[in-house]
Amino acid sequence: MIPEGVAILGATGSIGASALDVIARHPDRFEVVALAAHGNHARLLELCRRHRPRLAALYDRSHAATLARALAAEGIATRVVAGAEGLAEIATLPEARTVLAAIVGAAGLPATLAAARAGKRILLANKEALVIGGALFIEAAEAGAATLVPIDSEHNAVYQCLPAPYTRDPAAAGVRRIVLTASGGPFFQRPDTDFDRVTPDEACRHPNWAMGRKISVDSATMMNKGLEVIEAHWLFGAPADRIEVVVHPQSIVHSLVEYVDGSVLAQLGHPDMRTPIAQALAAPGRVESGVASLDLAAIGRLTFEHPDPARFPCVDLAYAALASDASAPIALNAANEVAVDAFLAGSARFSDIPRACAGVLERRHAGPVSSLDDALAADADARALCRVELGIAR
Ligand code: NAD
Ligand code: MG
Repeated sequence: MIPEGVAILGATGSIGASALDVIARHPDRFEVVALAAHGNHARLLELCRRHRPRLAALYDRSHAATLARALAAEGIATRVVAGAEGLAEIATLPEARTVLAAIVGAAGLPATLAAARAGKRILLANKEALVIGGALFIEAAEAGAATLVPIDSEHNAVYQCLPAPYTRDPAAAGVRRIVLTASGGPFFQRPDTDFDRVTPDEACRHPNWAMGRKISVDSATMMNKGLEVIEAHWLFGAPADRIEVVVHPQSIVHSLVEYVDGSVLAQLGHPDMRTPIAQALAAPGRVESGVASLDLAAIGRLTFEHPDPARFPCVDLAYAALASDASAPIALNAANEVAVDAFLAGSARFSDIPRACAGVLERRHAGPVSSLDDALAADADARALCRVELGIAR
């Protein structure tokens, strides 16, 4: 069997590392043909030494040049490309049947959209790309005959609990509702937390998952779950009133699907992204992921609670954005990215994140979204508004 070519967008990140770990366990099944990242040339050099891809890309051009020199000095034949065109080249490389989309944030949209148009099998971690791409993204995937396989753990759980093939029509499949589980993040069970004083390190100290800093903050505000409601809407064609959120602090049940006959199917596993990544890589088959067996008796209790909209308003902001026009989720996502960056940089408080997002949703300039340019314009508008909300406008 010829190994399947895999390209990884966001190779130097947390998801990139988990994916490379799974792939390295199956050299007969998968071959890393391309790796892309933002600017960490030293880390990408290490990955090129180990995986010998044909192509490597860094968005940052000067760091790409540094990488190219280092590879040439070591006699490694990996070709280096740079910038947005470089990322698009990785996303559409003919040798890659599968593209793992694991760039963080709106920055991942153009390349992921290019992979969709090129008909790739897209393993999607970059939820922000789907939140802002919305209908455009789904249409591009359909037009290009691309396949979307979610690796966000909740959506991968839902994907595993749905019949295959599934045609983005819950009613036709007898689905009554989709229930997304949320850990609640580091503060859900600490009601005395002062959200004006939370530090970036406290917000990033997730009880169950080790992840990049942006998604860790999103988990702490629960904006992550809001973005995931929008992601589920697009992936599974489910209206918002068929998607619910339940807080499950142990992060063992990754999500559930309820059918009209009352059956509720769930997917369980350790909170380790190698499980959904391995499932998505091998679907409809299965491969080893390196994740240990689940010892339910040792875990003992699985608990479930309602979300708390007063302390964590971001989930409701996402439902409101989904109920509004197509530019609202784009504005929400962009505002959140700016506010999270500002919080991580020390120029905004944790409590400013939901406040600024709500302000931007109110004040944004709504408009139709019928092209990538429209989406990027709505994104830029919301970013500028959010900087004003936060008092960090230049
Ligand atoms: P991370 O911060 O660890 O890694 C982000 C990656 O994106 C890095 O490789 C970085 O170089 C790259 N990147 C950032 N900006 C870029 C740009 N402009 N051009 C090219 N590359 C760029 O983040 P992560 O935790 O791995 O998350 C990646 C995505 O997966 C996010 O959308 C996140 O929401 C999603 N996700 C992550 C997890 C998790 O467990 N980490 C779980 C579910 C979903
Ligand atoms: Mg998730």
